[in-house]
Amino acid sequence: MRDIAKSVSYGAEQHAFEHTLLGEQQSFTSLVSTTREVEATPEWQAVYGTTPLEIITTKGSCDYALGTRRIAYKTLGSWRFAVPHELAHILTYDRHGPQWRARYVWLVRLMYGNEYAEALVAGFASSKLSVEVLPLARTTPMLPPELFDAQYGGPLIAARPEAPRGAIAL
Ligand SMILES: [Zn+2]
Repeated sequence: MRDIAKSVSYGAEQHAFEHTLLGEQQSFTSLVSTTREVEATPEWQAVYGTTPLEIITTKGSCDYALGTRRIAYKTLGSWRFAVPHELAHILTYDRHGPQWRARYVWLVRLMYGNEYAEALVAGFASSKLSVEVLPLARTTPMLPPELFDAQYGGPLIAARPEAPRGAIAL
């Protein structure tokens, strides 16, 4: 099965997250702990259930999700946005298609809030890919800026170089 949306999706998330904290490389341990935090939320459990995912390492160049139970993150650490990217694959079956996009944006909103979610939507839009908005009741993300600051030792929103997102702000 061809996955024609794959490369444009990668471009969209790079456009959205490069030079932001979600584009920072993380240790495998950090990726796992963030994944476990998502799994512990009622929102995740309402969609997926409470069965823990199997999280393994891969020495390959890509992270991946396998079926509905297993995620592999690179041994050397991947970007922070790898977590919602791969979790969205766990919840959908259309590779990088519209269902995956919708769930990816939903996960970013759940984890990091509206600003990052809208940046991703804009990234997809710049590749002419629409995103369905999935309902999310919570208004405070799983990692709001102050909690993110406490856990990771840096601000979630502030540390951003000039105009990293180009036309997104317009
Ligand atoms: Zn993917």
